[in-house]
Amino acid sequence: MSYSKVHRYFLRTIASSGVMSVDEAHRVLTKFTGEPILLKNCIQEINDVIRPYQQSIKVTYNESTNEEVVIFLTHAWDSISESQKIFTAKELDYFRLLIEEIMSIDVREITGIHAINLVNKMGQKISMLQAENLLAKWCKMYYLEKIQNKYRLGVRTINEFEDYFEKYMPDVMKDCYICKKNVFWGANCIACEKAIHTRCLNQYLEKIKKWPCCKLDFSPDQLKQLNESQRMTQITQTFEDTQSIEERSENSTASNVENDNTEEMERSQNTDNIRRLSRKRKRE
Ligand SMILES: [Zn+2]
Ligand SMILES: [Zn+2]
Repeated sequence: MSYSKVHRYFLRTIASSGVMSVDEAHRVLTKFTGEPILLKNCIQEINDVIRPYQQSIKVTYNESTNEEVVIFLTHAWDSISESQKIFTAKELDYFRLLIEEIMSIDVREITGIHAINLVNKMGQKISMLQAENLLAKWCKMYYLEKIQNKYRLGVRTINEFEDYFEKYMPDVMKDCYICKKNVFWGANCIACEKAIHTRCLNQYLEKIKKWPCCKLDFSPDQLKQLNESQRMTQITQTFEDTQSIEERSENSTASNVENDNTEEMERSQNTDNIRRLSRKRKRE
């Protein structure tokens, strides 16, 4: 199919929402045309057109929500023309600090207060109020994800900043033993510490109850732990949807500043092994 108003409509929709589920994308296309259109082809045809503008649409797995999503990507951190820049220089500085902080902690998330306090590392360039607004804006744009007042990297950051992670944080990046893609929250093998996506591991375990890397038995306890940690994410997200308004107002207090680091340390020490990604560099 040649580039038509269907493509333009789909591009506009995905560019303004940033991320949508694959099901939703199908619905958008069908609603517009009244007949089924192959999502894959449509995306490919749009990508051929927008590639010169350093933009692309991608279907990917959202490790955090455990679903297939369609995302709109711009190479935000690259030095491209001003008009396309999503981050100002100041904002990008703050965003990089956030990424580095989140990635330096085993559980890959930081509290709201911790996130806001990072502006102290930037001199007077960004105020705490500005930081709070930016955090909310980036959540809306799927650059960050907020779960129970803690910030994680959003699916857009994970995909858009892929080269950035490889270049500036090779030590913290791990490839999944099974699919070879980056792992942010998966499991580590208890014996060899290889990182594996929860989904990849679960699919493997359906066939054989062993760690795929060193073929060590996967005990019922570990399986239970893995499933519970997944369920927790899902429950938390439903909770987040209904509580977002109250949480937003909670978030605006920056008074417990001193408690924050202690809390963070305790939390990362208590992380169970199954969700921990070791920070040693290990590549296949
Ligand atoms: Zn994987
Ligand atoms: Zn192993």
